Amino acid sequence: MSILSVRNVNKNFGGLKALDAVNLDVEAGTVHAIIGPNGAGKSTLLNCFVGRLEPDTGSVTFDGKSLLGIQPHEINQLGVSRVFQTPEIFGDLSLLENVMIPAFAKRDGAFKMNAWHEVAEENDIHALAMEMLADVALDGKAHDTAAQLSRGDKRRLELAMCLVQNPKLLLLDEPTAGMARADTNNTIDLMKTIAGRGVTMVVIEHDMHVVFSLADKISVLAQGTVIAEDLPENIKGDPRVQEAYLGGAQL
Ligand code: ADP
Ligand code: MG
Repeated sequence: MSILSVRNVNKNFGGLKALDAVNLDVEAGTVHAIIGPNGAGKSTLLNCFVGRLEPDTGSVTFDGKSLLGIQPHEINQLGVSRVFQTPEIFGDLSLLENVMIPAFAKRDGAFKMNAWHEVAEENDIHALAMEMLADVALDGKAHDTAAQLSRGDKRRLELAMCLVQNPKLLLLDEPTAGMARADTNNTIDLMKTIAGRGVTMVVIEHDMHVVFSLADKISVLAQGTVIAEDLPENIKGDPRVQEAYLGGAQL
């Protein structure tokens, strides 16, 4: 069954057609990768799922409900969490606080900053946040300031910030960008663990090693259009994909 359904989505920036009649079906409980060259429209598409951008036309349906015309926090409440291309963490706060904030946001609908210190000691959320930090192997740094983390650790912190919301759908925009191989492999293992818990994932990724390690299905975007959607083994050999993605080189 399709949990996320995208129909005929178009998005223009001035004269530029960033998304051109995009269709996409993500099956519940699968990892669906979106690949394609730089500027293909991948991030634009993801932004249309989380209320950062509104498509000009078309529909985006999650779990039977439209994601269009509602606020990002309302989309989040429906069970959609995302990791953006650039890490978005609270640099001045501790790792623990970073993970507690989205937990409060999910529970209360919105996070009220001035109520923070009154509620920060709430045991259930504190314990849950610690558990999530342990899941991403950052519990030893729970009281460190987030700004001082390495890039790979920031990514893992962001994943913990998503997981604490117990999402049904996790959207990741280039989760291994800028990571060394060891960090990339750790991230692959972590994403496999998350997928094993039944969380549906949409992953934009440029690293083919990551894509072919994780994806159940792959959609290929080129110039705003889905040129192929298939199983990884079929995508690998598709000459249209090799042409569009790597100028004819082997994937
Ligand atoms: P990708 O993530 O596949 O690299 P993007 O979705 O970021 O591609 O961009 C698709 C195209 O839309 C690019 O040509 C980019 O320059 C353009 N674009 C993206 N966001 C904006 C914006 N906010 N305003 C104008 N053009 C944009
Ligand atoms: Mg992008």
